[in-house]
Amino acid sequence: MIVRFLGTHNAESRNTRLVSFLIDDILAVDAGSLASELSFPEQEKIKAILLSHGHYDHIRGIPAFVFNNWHHTTKVFATQQTLEILSSHLIDGVIYPKFTERTSFLEKPALELLTLEPLKSEDIEGYRVLALPVNHGIDTVGFEITSKDGKKIFYTGDTGPGLLSLWEHISPHVLIADVTFPNRFENVAKDAGHLCPEMLKLELVEFRRVKGYLPQVIVIHLSPKLEEEIKEEVQEIATELSCSIGIACEGEKLII
Ligand SMILES: [Zn+2]
Ligand SMILES: [Zn+2]
Repeated sequence: MIVRFLGTHNAESRNTRLVSFLIDDILAVDAGSLASELSFPEQEKIKAILLSHGHYDHIRGIPAFVFNNWHHTTKVFATQQTLEILSSHLIDGVIYPKFTERTSFLEKPALELLTLEPLKSEDIEGYRVLALPVNHGIDTVGFEITSKDGKKIFYTGDTGPGLLSLWEHISPHVLIADVTFPNRFENVAKDAGHLCPEMLKLELVEFRRVKGYLPQVIVIHLSPKLEEEIKEEVQEIATELSCSIGIACEGEKLII
């Protein structure tokens, strides 16, 4: 399994992109920078898109992506609420065409919205995908994605603390986890439904207690202006836990 990070931040700039990554070039997870970071031929390879939740920074690439790839049907998988947000705010027939419908310029719908039920694993393009609810204010899920050869990642999506109940359901080789703020913003992180390094540490301690091991951890969704502080604190918790914790970077590939 190859994970290719397209966007790894919570704010967009010339050097930072919104969250999106690819699995083996064919399965996209979140769509913050899906169109802007891929060539047209690369976009054509994508067979399905998973959306963790309906916040703008995770769904905003969908209209541009579908506009570029209208000649075939793109499947988007998400919970019911996330699909409703997408349909009512972005693919709404006002600011962009309703790509889910046949129109005068579309021979067939360019977009198919498919509902994912949390806790029920689905086969999507040869991957087993298990959506698990996390803590983020609006309806949000993380995804465990298992390849045919048994490689597993778990992406938390945007989440605050309290992930203990998830761990019994998953056994990832790699955990891709929200760390948006440094420790001094712990209260902001709790209010906004995100993690800081110290909060991630507590989640990982629980993971190790329940599962008996720690996966390789990669943090994502960083606030760019606070990134150096976050990196230092992430290294501190990696040392304390004696485990590997990396920082997701735009353009990097991770082979699992
Ligand atoms: Zn969010
Ligand atoms: Zn976000």
